[in-house]
Amino acid sequence: RAKAQKQEFVAEVNRMMKLIINSLYKNKEIFLRELISNASDALDKIRFLSLTNKEILGDKEELVIRVKADKENRMLHITDTGIGMTKDDLIKYLGTIAKSQTSEFLTKFQEAQESDNKQSMSDLIGQFGVGFYSAFLVADRVIVTSKNNDDDQYIWESDSNSFTVVKDPRGNTLGRGTTISLLMKEEAQEYLEEHKLKEIISKYSQFINFNIFLWTSKTVSEEVPVEQEEKTENEDGAVEEAKEEVKTKKVDKTVYDWELMNSAKPIWQRKVSEVTDEEYKEFYKAFTKDSQEPLVHTHFVAEGEVTFKSILYVPKTAPSDLFQNYNKKADSIKLYVRRVFISETVDDLLPKYLSFVRGVVDSDDLPLNVSRETLQQNKLLKVIKKKLVRKILDMIKKLSEADFDLFHKEYSTNIKLGVIEDSTNRVRLAKLLRFGTSALDKAKVTSLEKYVERMKEKQEFIYFIAGNNRDELEKSPFVERLLSKGYEVLYLTDPIDEYCMQSLPEFDGKRFQNVAKDGLNIDKSKQAEEKLKEIQKSYEPLINWMKDGPLKDKVENVKVSTRLVKTPMALVANQYGYSGNMERITRAQAY
Ligand code: ADP
Ligand code: MG
Repeated sequence: RAKAQKQEFVAEVNRMMKLIINSLYKNKEIFLRELISNASDALDKIRFLSLTNKEILGDKEELVIRVKADKENRMLHITDTGIGMTKDDLIKYLGTIAKSQTSEFLTKFQEAQESDNKQSMSDLIGQFGVGFYSAFLVADRVIVTSKNNDDDQYIWESDSNSFTVVKDPRGNTLGRGTTISLLMKEEAQEYLEEHKLKEIISKYSQFINFNIFLWTSKTVSEEVPVEQEEKTENEDGAVEEAKEEVKTKKVDKTVYDWELMNSAKPIWQRKVSEVTDEEYKEFYKAFTKDSQEPLVHTHFVAEGEVTFKSILYVPKTAPSDLFQNYNKKADSIKLYVRRVFISETVDDLLPKYLSFVRGVVDSDDLPLNVSRETLQQNKLLKVIKKKLVRKILDMIKKLSEADFDLFHKEYSTNIKLGVIEDSTNRVRLAKLLRFGTSALDKAKVTSLEKYVERMKEKQEFIYFIAGNNRDELEKSPFVERLLSKGYEVLYLTDPIDEYCMQSLPEFDGKRFQNVAKDGLNIDKSKQAEEKLKEIQKSYEPLINWMKDGPLKDKVENVKVSTRLVKTPMALVANQYGYSGNMERITRAQAY
């Protein structure tokens, strides 16, 4: 073998490996899930490239993953016919660059470790994917042989302390693709056992969209000829002819062959009636790496202008970075064209406010000749997007009350952003809004539909007030009179609420009235109006004095109002101006 120079792993990779080895020793088997998932990624990449260039597959057209145990040499081999790695790739991806998320992961993990939060630790590992280095959970040495179309075949080898890369002296034996060979640790011999491998592969890799073969042994009984019996003499000395037929006996024999471990038919291509709830959940976990079950899913075939199949999920918990990078969310939906994963990210499949939804879309109608530009401009994609939004809103609307509560806790801000950003679906989204209200206990929220049902006979407006918290709002002088007259007031305590209301002029034909703004007119009877005029008249000198004197440059107007009961005066915002709450929010945002 050619001489190889030792190279060191970058510090972050080193930390990552130590962390994996120390924290996952009880969960070693995930190494196979990670290696198969890498093989599948590599196969996705070559299949995607082959869409525009058939030649690229050469004579290695079969896209498969093969797993083979070699007990004698204590080795396990995982081979794929994927895109492979050049010499540079091997050095870069398997040692000298840390993935972009690695440092974020390490920080979060350390926090979880310090607070001894086991659940959070395993969730983090699931979310980030521990990747290639998990091989060292079970192996003393890892040898990666890889052939990419752009380079010769190379061998990367490591004992987890340092690594080497050399050109393969055997030449190009793979054709194209990668073999990961693990020299198994003394204590990890069980992963060379066929039954164990079968168990793990079917547990973790049932949703891999490429055939996975395992090298398995089978005991077969074979008929082998038995040696011909000699002719025997019978009692009277006559020689009896031996029977013509050849005698045989059964012998057990071990034969080896590749056995298919999965049905590579994608779950979304199957009929809804044929997929169990359990399978939907497992599929979700497999592709999101979320350890929790999803809150809800929908699986459907859309037909019409464009035909596509899709499965969509709402995760139980919102990702912690839901609103960081709000404008850059892209990878929540996996796009397939005729069952081929499109690895170019298409960041326009869902509106941003729905970026928490995870799922797959597979269409036969999109062009196979896909590049980022052509896809982005594709008219069909717009149709798909429109249908996805409808399906998602529908799925949310149909949630049971208990599940809707869970949904609301996690995603209420998304719905409000939707009201602001998506005018087409504003009415649908408004039905999903929930607010605190004077009609219910503090912990409860109401829909606008329920508010409208409770409205008084001649009530024209839906009243609301926005501010920091409910306690403050309940005591606000603005709501006094409304409450005393038996009107319901919505308490909007989320900073985004008032923006949301600005985009929502009415609900079910009822306009909204911010009670902290001018124009609040509750009692419209003639009698009341006359009384008001009377009062206004008698207070005119005082009001004029205030307007022209001490408050001259400070306020726009001074009015006698009927909105207060016990409080003598209140500062009110102009109908078209910012309310005090909005001013507070905008001011906070400016910093
Ligand atoms: P991730 O899969 O999240 O990128 P991994 O640690 O699992 O992280 O893998 C690191 C990188 O190594 C991959 O992104 C890929 O570029 C490369 N790689 C790993 N296994 C293979 C493989 N079987 N074929 C081609 N490239 C691979
Ligand atoms: Mg990986």
